[in-house]
Amino acid sequence: MSRSHDLFTAAQHHIPGGVNSPVRAFRSVGGDPVFFASAAGSKVTDADGKTYIDYVGSWGPMILGHAHPEVITAVTEQAARGLSFGAPTELETQMADKVCELVPSMDLVRMVSSGTEATMSALRLARGFTGRDKVVKFEGCYHGHVDSLLVKAGSGMLTLGEPSSPGVPAALAELTLTLTYNDLDQVRETFAKMGDEIACIIVEPVAGNMNCIPPAPGFLEGLREVCDQHGSVLIFDEVMTGFRVGLGGAQGRYGIKPDLTALGKVIGGGMPVGAFGGRREIMEKISPLGPVYQAGTLSGNPIAMAAGLKTLELISKPGFFDQVEASTTRLVKGLSELASAAGVGFSTNQVGAMFGLFFTADGPVTNYAKATACDQDAFRAFFQSMLEQGVYLAPSAFEAGFVSSAHSDSDIDATLDAARAAFAKLAG
Ligand code: PMP
Repeated sequence: MSRSHDLFTAAQHHIPGGVNSPVRAFRSVGGDPVFFASAAGSKVTDADGKTYIDYVGSWGPMILGHAHPEVITAVTEQAARGLSFGAPTELETQMADKVCELVPSMDLVRMVSSGTEATMSALRLARGFTGRDKVVKFEGCYHGHVDSLLVKAGSGMLTLGEPSSPGVPAALAELTLTLTYNDLDQVRETFAKMGDEIACIIVEPVAGNMNCIPPAPGFLEGLREVCDQHGSVLIFDEVMTGFRVGLGGAQGRYGIKPDLTALGKVIGGGMPVGAFGGRREIMEKISPLGPVYQAGTLSGNPIAMAAGLKTLELISKPGFFDQVEASTTRLVKGLSELASAAGVGFSTNQVGAMFGLFFTADGPVTNYAKATACDQDAFRAFFQSMLEQGVYLAPSAFEAGFVSSAHSDSDIDATLDAARAAFAKLAG
């Protein structure tokens, strides 16, 4: 038996399901989760000493690859000066200036400690700013485990939402309307009915939590227009896409200015960080300037700021995103060609250094219904074969994949070699 197996058994004594975040448990792919011991560059090493080419990158943050020497130096130097002060530091101003420079829709930004905190705070602020309670989200988008956002569509279109987890009060879920991603007509219809009650639309501008699904042409523009017409706040949840699909995030890539943006993952370079910010007029409603309350003991933590700042500095170098995007394209194109040669129904999506793999002959995949209709068994078999061959993909068919600047051509080639065997097994 593997050391990962023993560690997983031990973990379950005092940790629910043996994990501190559910998707890590491998429930949807089967088998024991791999326990990691260390990571460097494009590779992770498990507790048994086996090394994998990693396409999860801690679920997005590690765009420079793991343990980048300059980030590690920034963190260790900062750690020696103190772990947390709970008082302002110059690093926080440097971070705010950098974020507002890279994401021009943000005039003011507040740091928090996770993506969930960022979306939760943005939602409260949108409600506080508009004096309205209803929020619009899209089926298949995930915005962290915020009560108001753990809501699925009610039966029938344009009905109010139902909790998607016990513990979320129905009275709160009723204020959340869950619509179909990439269906602008439905958004317009909803706003025609109750636009003056809707505080905000929150959207992943490239969906990354139902695998990877790009916005249809005109979708984001349409959301901007509808929000302008009805005085609602447009929130882009760029926790995943920020500093990932381009230096200016999805909003830079598609040229749309949201009112508020939630950030996470890359902004912390692997440390627990999130941020939310946007238009000055809205952000000035946050305490201590305004009445909308929001706070955090560890917000703007100096070590997290040091890791994030160094990461943002390194990804700002000219050509950075061209390189990671080219590696991603090489991977995705290679996988498509291999699947097609093997006669496996397969479709891919890619935006920048983010990709999605779908086991379906009915591509492209454009929304949640299409993503959930894909062949889960084929994904599971592919995942397990790749894992065995030393390629670590997200252990769920509904997660996007990530490439880092540390992924070399030979990493991609090795991945494609493994995929050739995995597809052959599936086809056979
Ligand atoms: N929003 C999006 C788009 C995300 O992908 C995630 C996490 N995967 C979150 C919010 C929540 O972030 P966190 O897990 O840091 O709370």
